[in-house]
Amino acid sequence: MTLSDGECLVCFVARQLDEFGCNGTHRFASLYRDHVAPRATALIARLSTMGACCCDCEMFMNAYEPASQLWTRAHESVDSDDFDEWAYATPPRTMPPCETTRRGSTKPCANWQRVSRSRNR
Ligand SMILES: [Zn+2]
Ligand SMILES: [Zn+2]
Repeated sequence: MTLSDGECLVCFVARQLDEFGCNGTHRFASLYRDHVAPRATALIARLSTMGACCCDCEMFMNAYEPASQLWTRAHESVDSDDFDEWAYATPPRTMPPCETTRRGSTKPCANWQRVSRSRNR
């Protein structure tokens, strides 16, 4: 486990999940808290209320998503002869390096935003 200096909770968990996968617990969020923000005792409870009640990967389904400026723009595709296909905005395949956060904070950096429930996928 490597924790880069100033890396935020969400980038850290995303990176660890990428490498090791989810095991159905909040192991990476707790690991981050233990190392970086030991006083954030309510972190898991807070993630739960945001929709990540059971494990780390739920953070990326229900709580945080890549910030909108990192997504490809929606556009009309001209690939098809018969009809115009609408290509929806898609999240970045790989995340840029962490924008970093204040040590001791469990807030995500500027690479992330709260999932908006109004977006149609
Ligand atoms: Zn999971
Ligand atoms: Zn970050």
